[in-house]
Amino acid sequence: MQKLAAGNWKMNGLAASLAEIEALATAHPTPGCDILICPPATLLSRVSDAALGTSVQTGAQDCHPKDSGAHTGDISAAMVRDAGGAFVIVGHSERRADHGEDDALVRAKAEAAHDAGLIAIVCVGETLEQREAGRTLEVVGGQVAGSLPDDATAEDTVIAYEPVWAIGTGKVPTTDEIALVHADIRARLTARFGADGEGMRIIYGGSVKASNAAEIFAVPNVDGALVGGASLKAADFGGIVDAL
Ligand code: PEP
Repeated sequence: MQKLAAGNWKMNGLAASLAEIEALATAHPTPGCDILICPPATLLSRVSDAALGTSVQTGAQDCHPKDSGAHTGDISAAMVRDAGGAFVIVGHSERRADHGEDDALVRAKAEAAHDAGLIAIVCVGETLEQREAGRTLEVVGGQVAGSLPDDATAEDTVIAYEPVWAIGTGKVPTTDEIALVHADIRARLTARFGADGEGMRIIYGGSVKASNAAEIFAVPNVDGALVGGASLKAADFGGIVDAL
């Protein structure tokens, strides 16, 4: 399966950041993995134009479950597609925490993404409190069960395992800990989706950088990375792409 290096710019990036897309594409004309950048919605159209015809694909960081309507400030999956995006991140822990998003809403967003022809990157992950209580597999398993549409396929869905305590903190689980969670997710996906579950990409996110990427990518069932801070600069993200 083709691995995925996905960058989530979060609420970062102005027009000047377009230079990073050009630099990333120029440095990686024929990468050994899929490269994805999810800029803020304000930049999606321009980033998609800059990435057209290059190795870089684009996506959004969220979408509304409805196609259109009276939802001030939201964007729909159809709008993401219209702006040139091929992917959308749903259920990122910052949205679950800051906007009270639950599994049912995340699932509805993933369904909307699929209906619009987008690949949904569905994020799951435990908090530090849940990990310390020994509840990691239960929590992550519950999120996987509740956040994925029944007709998800290997082509239209990616799972991002992102321990909340590892995001933006510089803390990373051990490779054994990552292996355990990814193997558990894989078993659940295979039990529910059969061959599609075997082929669905499970990417790791949480303080991935060029210096730890190779070690993380060597873990079984790690099919790429979702990267926040280290995706903002082409030189940093390029080091992660090179490790895949
Ligand atoms: C993220 O935003 O999904 C993320 C993993 O952030 P960081 O790489 O900065 O930890």
